[in-house]
Amino acid sequence: MAGTGRGGVPIGNKKPEANAAAADEKDLRSYTISLFPRLTVKVGDNVQMKFGAAKIERLFQTSKGVYFNARFYIRSRDTRLAILPFISKRELFLAESTEIRCVTSIESKVTVHSAEEYFEFKNAGFLIRARLHDLRICLCEMPWNPDVPMMECKDCGELFHPACVGMTRDEAAENAANGIDYVCSECNSQVAAGLPNQWQREVVTKNEATKLFR
Ligand SMILES: [Zn+2]
Ligand SMILES: [Zn+2]
Repeated sequence: MAGTGRGGVPIGNKKPEANAAAADEKDLRSYTISLFPRLTVKVGDNVQMKFGAAKIERLFQTSKGVYFNARFYIRSRDTRLAILPFISKRELFLAESTEIRCVTSIESKVTVHSAEEYFEFKNAGFLIRARLHDLRICLCEMPWNPDVPMMECKDCGELFHPACVGMTRDEAAENAANGIDYVCSECNSQVAAGLPNQWQREVVTKNEATKLFR
């Protein structure tokens, strides 16, 4: 809280009256909810309430109870971004403003991953990216969506969507299950042409991309 230090001691030369409304507030680092569900929450935790999930940005006690500043998460399905191919259905966005909630409204804790963690944990929980992921993949050059299956080229290590290279997801999954490595058309044609990889890649990417978008 602006103007007071820990324990409500005024800082600097601010008049105490300026903080009258907040005079009995005391910042807390963590708090254990004694009623069911018995949970210890702290600043930075993500929590589920009846009407959505939020990040605890500040935790404080007053004579009336324990409260927190909740920055709510907005689910991608509740935004127009949901139609974009690089937005995960489990993607969250932080709300612009915060609201004050009582700790008794907390039902459970929620795990919010980075896109990489979410992918690693087999798409469990939710993910948030501070900004749209700038890793662009495939011939379509779309930002990476960890929900969408991809194939990694054995030679160049680039990621491709099966559909963008004329395969079905089933075919891609079958190849992966049978241990058949994917080699992208760029790498294939470079081998055939016998040219150094870096020299041909750009030319072939452009040709392939032109074909796909026509
Ligand atoms: Zn693609
Ligand atoms: Zn390749």
